[in-house]
Parts: sequence; structure tokens; C-alpha cells
Amino acid sequence: MKRPQYINVDLSAISAIFHRCSGCTSTDACCCAKYEVCVSAREMKTIIGILPLAAEHCPWLKGENGFDNVFDEAERGLFAIDTHEDGLCVFAYHCNSGIRCALHSVAEQIGISPHLFKPYACTLWPLGLQEPPNATLSICDDAFQFPCNRIRKEKGGAIAPEILNSIERLLGVAACGQILKAAKKGLHSTRVQLRGPLAGEP
Ligand code: SF4
Ligand code: SF4
Repeated sequence: MKRPQYINVDLSAISAIFHRCSGCTSTDACCCAKYEVCVSAREMKTIIGILPLAAEHCPWLKGENGFDNVFDEAERGLFAIDTHEDGLCVFAYHCNSGIRCALHSVAEQIGISPHLFKPYACTLWPLGLQEPPNATLSICDDAFQFPCNRIRKEKGGAIAPEILNSIERLLGVAACGQILKAAKKGLHSTRVQLRGPLAGEP
């Protein structure tokens, strides 16, 4: 689906959430087992490029004759990442600190920002971008079912730093600054130009 040039931002919603991942120990409550995660062709190409490194954490990615195809075309230009039988994404793995994302771990190993390897939907979560015609950046409907998300009670800052970081990585510094300024003014919504990875730009 063609991405819009401008999106609405639900400031009331994104100002009201605090999020910090502490790593799930069980698949039942893990965000990596709850959703069908889809990527664009560009994101898929990036992930395929780091499969050998990801397989060091997730050996099941390796087949007998190379790497297994872990993507299924869900709709034109959009590819769903395979899951295990329990619903856990094939890029998730268990370690001492809980369930981790191999794409995130590989980025940290190389020393680059994880958003350059991870699906944009995963970087953005617990926020979500609704599709056009009412493209709006808001929080996912079920976000508060996860213990790592809670209603934000802190005063000041307008938006929680973890949420702001995700927005900045995916929308860029300028749009992030615009969103923060509008939130500090107490506005309930604003409209920003879609730039960066969410607009299909590098
Ligand atoms: S973001 Fe939340 S649900 Fe997902 S792995 Fe971290 S703690 Fe678990
Ligand atoms: S790509 Fe990574 S963050 Fe996204 S669902 Fe899979 S394991 Fe979780």
C-alpha cells in the first residue's frame, strides 16, 4: 500500500504511555509472539543480508542447503516473517536475560542502531501507524495488556524518552522535534511529514 506523505500524530495517546522492555521470560506474554510482523521488500533485503549473523543466535534459520526462506508474501510488496508453532517470531531467541531479537543483537554486535535491521513495526511498538486514509501514529490497541507498558504518570518531558527515541529513529529529528513541541504546548494531535524509513527512504 502506498504510504501517505503526511500523517496525523495522536499526541494525547503517545504522551500517556511509558514503555521499557525488560525482556520476557515466557512466550505467552511476549510481543514477539503476538503479532504477524510484515516487512517491505527493502527491509526483507536488509534482513537477508545479515541472516548468517542472525543464525548465530537462531540456528534454525539454517537449512540443509543454505538459509531457509522465512518470509511469506502476505500481500503485494509486503512479506510476513515466519513464526514457530507457539507463535514466536523466528528471529526471537531465548537467553539468560529473556527473549531477545537476533536482528537487534546483531546490530548491537556491529555497533549500529538496531532500527537499521529491525522491521519498522518492531522499532515503533508499542506505537503503531494506521494505514491510509486515516494514517495516524498512535499506540497499539492492546499495548496495555503487556506489563512493559503502563500509563505514564510522570510530569514533564511531555513524551517518555523511550517512545521519543523510536519516533526520532523512524521519522527523523525534525519531525520528532515538531511532535515534542506540539505535545509540550498541550495539543491533542498534530500533523507531520512522513520522512525516513517509514516513507521508504534510507
Ligand atoms: S517489549 Fe515487552 S512484551 Fe516485548 S519482549 Fe520486551 S518486555 Fe516482553
Ligand atoms: S523481528 Fe525481532 S523484534 Fe520483531 S518480532 Fe521478530 S524477534 Fe521480535
